[in-house]
Amino acid sequence: MRIDILTALPDYVERVVGLTVVRRAKGKVELHVHDLGAYAEGHYKQIDDYPYGGGAGMVLKPEPIFTCIEALGDTPDEIIYLSPDGEPLTQALANTLSLKKHIVLLAGHYKGVDHRVREALVTREVSVGDYVLSGGELPALLVVDAVVRLIPGVLGDAQSALEDSFQDGLLGAPAYTRPASFRGLEVPEVLCSGNHNSIAEWREEVRQQRTRERRPDLWQQYVARVQT
Ligand code: SAM
Repeated sequence: MRIDILTALPDYVERVVGLTVVRRAKGKVELHVHDLGAYAEGHYKQIDDYPYGGGAGMVLKPEPIFTCIEALGDTPDEIIYLSPDGEPLTQALANTLSLKKHIVLLAGHYKGVDHRVREALVTREVSVGDYVLSGGELPALLVVDAVVRLIPGVLGDAQSALEDSFQDGLLGAPAYTRPASFRGLEVPEVLCSGNHNSIAEWREEVRQQRTRERRPDLWQQYVARVQT
């Protein structure tokens, strides 16, 4: 898979991306970080300008973004703009994106990007939550992490990702490790029993119970799905 990130803060993205799961994805993911400033025109390489109609804040200009995307050469499967008013980043969306060959992530800044970029270039808009951050870099990095860890061979144990929260609509089961008894706190007996069927049943029960209690919205969707 190839991922291109377009940003006004390339150093920041490059520094953080090296600390994410991407470092384990060598040979499976090709990641390129593009400095929008390098595609800007004029002496000052300006990437932002005042909004038409007035108002506070600057807007990212369209030219550097168009030029940068055109310079990529091929047509990406998705050009994703990170935006608070986009579709929520969910595990289902991460699964979908992990099957793509080439995705582009565009990080906004200030008031966002000139709307013509969204109309003419962007194929999908993704939000990481109902709050506003100052830039799209962290949201882009969240997408990269959520997607890359699903690519076969990136995680040491592929089964681990399949058992994560949200993967099948339920929250994950609690995990314990040794010692079995610690300061009077005990690991549930069934997990030490060696009986794989009983362990699987226990985990399923606990996952359902936690989903019912913590995320009634997910629980309703899960029940509706298993009933059909
Ligand atoms: N004016 C925009 C609005 O009201 O929706 C907010 C702009 S925000 C200050 C600057 C940039 O941060 C956005 O262009 C976007 O790329 C990114 N951003 C902020 N919050 C985000 C979120 N919840 N999800 C995804 N991207 C976000």
